[in-house]
Amino acid sequence: MESKIWLSSPHMSGKEQSYINDAFKTNWIAPLGPHVNGFESDIKNYLNEDSHVAVLSSGTAAIHLGLILLDVGHGDEVICQSKTFSASANPIAYQGATPIFVDSEKDTWNICPEQLEIAIKDRISKGKKPKAIIAVHLYGMPYNVNAIHAIAKAYNIPVLEDSAEALGSTYKDVKCGTFGDISVLSFNGNKIITTSGGGAIITKDPKHRDKAVFLATQAREKAVEYVHASIGYNYRMSNVLAGIGRGQMEVLDDRVLARRKNYAFYKESFKNIEELTFVDEPEGYYSNRWLSCILTPSEDIREGIRTALEKENIETRPLWKPMHQQPIFKDLPQYINGVSDELFEKGLCLPSGSNLTENELNRVTSAIKTYFRA
Ligand SMILES: *Cc1c(COP(=O)(O)O)cnc(C)c1O
Repeated sequence: MESKIWLSSPHMSGKEQSYINDAFKTNWIAPLGPHVNGFESDIKNYLNEDSHVAVLSSGTAAIHLGLILLDVGHGDEVICQSKTFSASANPIAYQGATPIFVDSEKDTWNICPEQLEIAIKDRISKGKKPKAIIAVHLYGMPYNVNAIHAIAKAYNIPVLEDSAEALGSTYKDVKCGTFGDISVLSFNGNKIITTSGGGAIITKDPKHRDKAVFLATQAREKAVEYVHASIGYNYRMSNVLAGIGRGQMEVLDDRVLARRKNYAFYKESFKNIEELTFVDEPEGYYSNRWLSCILTPSEDIREGIRTALEKENIETRPLWKPMHQQPIFKDLPQYINGVSDELFEKGLCLPSGSNLTENELNRVTSAIKTYFRA
């Protein structure tokens, strides 16, 4: 059996180790320390000087704190893109609020502006204005920022931008991770850069950032005797992992280029297979191509390709199963146009790591070409 090809595996640069050694040498083995501050300024310098950054234990924790900062509580409703990973939606439930799922548009696979407005109007007519909108840049492709934020502004609803998959992507030359009232990054093991596990919350308001740090460190009031006036969390990133993040930030631009190269390679390789299509970047969109995805003609063919590749020890994954189809969420309010259901049936994510070798990429494309010839 040939060696396993993973969907998206960690890709260390070698620069991480010196930061980790420094953490050990100075004994900063704690959820605070110079690398935590350093990683935060690295992210801020990369994104935008006006961004306020706190690094956390996960992207999920960042979404949870983001909802708290936006004052989402028990009985509230929060609109959430249905086509996403469950971590976008779960924190709504942590807060005792109800997710309201909204379907995607074909051009970006992300939250559809028309369905969003229908949903907002309908929820208001039913007596509850949504407290927030969670929009996701899926697989690195930016959502339609202008349209979504114009609607959010018109109804005065804050946007929580889930940029977990989109560090390095831009929309009209502005970096993803800077659009939301609150924005979120993830450094999980499979993301474009990783700290093994981790995330960040990015806020426009510096007070929000400070409150996020306060809540992430058990909500200790300024008193020597540990006074707590609110419920806290243990969500801060450790100094060791922040060191990994600093090493990864040094190569982020290379990682984006490598992933985009994978996408271009797949697209070129399959140009004569008319059954396979891709989602191209609309004008003004720049995707980090976190995962390269193909659309097949049917669920049968998608499964055919997936199992053929599995036999070759190649990992692939159907596109995210929409949240409105998930057993835990399927009975909740939803505004559906069929796009995310169809993408789920027909779409497949191909190996997309920035560390894939030419030989590995060729194994993937030959297996798919063989499937279509057979
Ligand atoms: C990975 C991911 C998250 C969660 O990030 P973690 O760091 O794994 O908690 C949230 N949303 C999306 C869209 C993701 O892909």
